[in-house]
Amino acid sequence: MYAIIGAGPMGLCAARQLKKQGIDFVGFELHSDVGGLWDIDNPHSTMYHSAHLISSKGTTEFREFPMDPEVAPYPHHSQMRRYFRDYARHFGLYQHYQFNTRVLRVERQAQGWRLISECRGEQRHWQFEGILIASGTLHTPNLPPLPGEFAGELLHSSAYKSADSFAGKRVLVVGCGNSACDIAVDAVHRAASVDLSVRRGYHFLPKFILGRPTDTFGNVIPLPRPLKQLLDGFLVRALVGKPSQYGLPDPDYRLYESHPVMNSLVLHHIAHGDIHPRGEIRSVNGHSVTFASGESGEYDLILMATGYKLDYPFIKRSELNWPQDVGAPQLYLNVFHPEHDDLFMLGMVEASGLGWQGRDEQAELVALYIRQLRAGSPAALKLRRTIREQAGRRVDGGYQYLQLERMAYYVHKDSYRRRIAEHSAALRRELSSATLPAVQEV
Ligand SMILES: Cc1cc2nc3c(=O)[nH]c(=O)nc-3n(C[C@H](O)[C@H](O)[C@H](O)COP(=O)(O)OP(=O)(O)OC[C@H]3O[C@@H](n4cnc5c(N)ncnc54)[C@H](O)[C@@H]3O)c2cc1C
Repeated sequence: MYAIIGAGPMGLCAARQLKKQGIDFVGFELHSDVGGLWDIDNPHSTMYHSAHLISSKGTTEFREFPMDPEVAPYPHHSQMRRYFRDYARHFGLYQHYQFNTRVLRVERQAQGWRLISECRGEQRHWQFEGILIASGTLHTPNLPPLPGEFAGELLHSSAYKSADSFAGKRVLVVGCGNSACDIAVDAVHRAASVDLSVRRGYHFLPKFILGRPTDTFGNVIPLPRPLKQLLDGFLVRALVGKPSQYGLPDPDYRLYESHPVMNSLVLHHIAHGDIHPRGEIRSVNGHSVTFASGESGEYDLILMATGYKLDYPFIKRSELNWPQDVGAPQLYLNVFHPEHDDLFMLGMVEASGLGWQGRDEQAELVALYIRQLRAGSPAALKLRRTIREQAGRRVDGGYQYLQLERMAYYVHKDSYRRRIAEHSAALRRELSSATLPAVQEV
């Protein structure tokens, strides 16, 4: 019996895949329903009212469970919540979950794992053969200290819900990732003023090109990496220009070497004077903020869109093969522990356009591996050797990713999916229906 921690998109597809392979499991979810951070009512959710998908629905959805045709290409988060509830109902996953149940600790035993859960103040001890962690990566705020004392309101994007927080205020948004840009755009219509403090350059992509979602062009013509970076870079330059034309820093790295910003509105609002770009913060004093350029501004609210830290509070860091000074656990394909076949990290992966389908493929590989290891299949033993040898090696497809903490678990989508597909195909070929129950299709 296995445990799955989390009923977000990742936990749900893991449940689906374990079920398909006839592997018993219990799911644990601290919220009362499925959907993870896409359920804005989940106390762990970092969603805000205006949020929509950043990747398009066709790139993101589970292939075996497409979204309704009437759903927009970039749906609202509430439609995603509905989608995950439908998914869980369709594949019969609800009955496998303990809801309102937080996993407090998982502890390795001589054989398997002890899991301690809490539901409405009551603790319960469980014994499992293995653990699948799908508790998400975007919950614990990364909140760097400001250089000085700010007398106004300080908010991290994780706590931001609606533009009402900005009404009539002079707002400074710090950071320029996808959430920072979404939130700055939100603020335009409510705040007295909106400034955006940007430390390093970003590549900005519009959400549509030629009337089609931008991320659907990715593999139309497969190109060698340097040529793709060059051609796509030219295309983006032709469509939106250089960030410095909008008063933003130009990136000192090439396209796809960090996560791009997918936002059609932020440059529009900068160009209309609704959002004022600022540089890195040098000092803060009372309501006054001075930037690296020497300019300063007065603010009532600083919103820190400074990202998240990986955090798995219910398990010892050493169990995750996660050295102190390293940004992420050192695993094979960000999933497999180099020494133990009974602990799997799911969803600790970031890649432009990986979507839930990519996460589902990850889950399928884990389910096949568990099943085939039990059967002693040569393909599973071969994968185990690869895991031992290659844990911690990033699948980067030759891209030179920025050396930043938030990029610690970033992979190259196509190379990553290819590697997963190869392993899954090898395991599938050897499926022995004689030793295990047949695949359970819904
Ligand atoms: C504003 C925003 C926009 C985004 N847009 C996109 C997008 O367009 N495309 C994309 O692919 N990704 C996007 N993401 C990334 C997002 O992380 C993934 O889409 C996806 O939600 C990750 O799924 P998950 O199941 O791994 O994690 P989560 O959705 O975070 O789910 C984890 C679940 O685990 C539960 N949990 C955590 N700890 C415990 C515990 N101790 N015990 C029990 N349960 C626990 C939580 O309650 C939660 O339900 C976006 C994120 C944000 C914040």
